[in-house]
Amino acid sequence: MTPFELVEPHTLREAAGLLASAEVRPLAGGTAVMLMMKMGVLRPARLVSLRAVEKRYSEIAAAGGELRIGALATLSALERSPLVARAAPVIAQTLRMLANVRVRNVATVGGHLAHADPHMDLPPVLIALGARVSIIDPAGGRTLPLGELYTGYLETTLGRNELVAEVTVPAQGSRRAAYLKCTTRSADDWPALGVAVVLEADGALVRDARVVISAATDTPTRLAAAENALRGARVDEAVLRRAGDAAASEAAVIGDQHGSAAYKRELLRVCLARAVRAVLDEQ
Ligand SMILES: Cc1cc2nc3c(=O)[nH]c(=O)nc-3n(C[C@H](O)[C@H](O)[C@H](O)COP(=O)(O)OP(=O)(O)OC[C@H]3O[C@@H](n4cnc5c(N)ncnc54)[C@H](O)[C@@H]3O)c2cc1C
Repeated sequence: MTPFELVEPHTLREAAGLLASAEVRPLAGGTAVMLMMKMGVLRPARLVSLRAVEKRYSEIAAAGGELRIGALATLSALERSPLVARAAPVIAQTLRMLANVRVRNVATVGGHLAHADPHMDLPPVLIALGARVSIIDPAGGRTLPLGELYTGYLETTLGRNELVAEVTVPAQGSRRAAYLKCTTRSADDWPALGVAVVLEADGALVRDARVVISAATDTPTRLAAAENALRGARVDEAVLRRAGDAAASEAAVIGDQHGSAAYKRELLRVCLARAVRAVLDEQ
């Protein structure tokens, strides 16, 4: 690893102000940064640690069913939070399948979302739940739907001196959710496909649907045609087949070491149906 300087500002805005050059990178839990530095794909001259910023950015709060998650909250804190378990249990369920407890104890929500590896588990879930992300810069900030953060493989709309500050998950009301992580090797491997489904349903009748996939595509992707096939339908085998076919034709699936594009399209047909059934069975 090449030598680097480490600075530890006391506010998130100050941290954003220190990120002016391409040689400087923010450091949160460090689980991705350190791996990239050890592999030599990242050689920053300076790391700006976020560990000493205001405590409120590590907090998880709930009001009226809406969750506010600070960017420095660890994945373990999220997994164990009773507020999260009540407002959006699918988040805690997803985290139990994510990496291992050592990674979750240090990895942060902000680092997880900013890293933009399409194999990450939380982005499709949070996008399907309608999450918004707040971004801070030295002068102010902006808020956008989480799905709009991602532009490509490891690429986001974050400017050089912008940092993820907070994620907001709206109240889910009667909506229910499921996430299926489809691995093709060991169960704790990176997924070949992730499928998040959020439904508002009355028995088998789907009133509204959100479907977001990851891992098989360059960015977490919402599947509008699959959602349309489910919305207003009473779910049976034929509806699930139509939704699966719609998903497989609309998604820009890419092949990699986890499976060919054709194989992942077939996985998508099968896993989408299973995820929809998982939500409906839970009602
Ligand atoms: C062994 C192992 C197994 C894993 N398995 C899984 C898995 O099964 N599923 C899964 O989803 N993930 C998995 N991961 C990835 C893990 O989720 C990420 O490494 C982690 O979430 C990144 O968070 P971090 O806080 O450590 O980020 P860091 O490593 O500190 O940062 C990651 C990136 O985000 C930037 N950054 C950090 N914080 C911010 C911020 N607030 N604003 C803007 N940019 C920021 C950094 O500069 C860097 O580019 C695994 C990782 C490891 C090491």
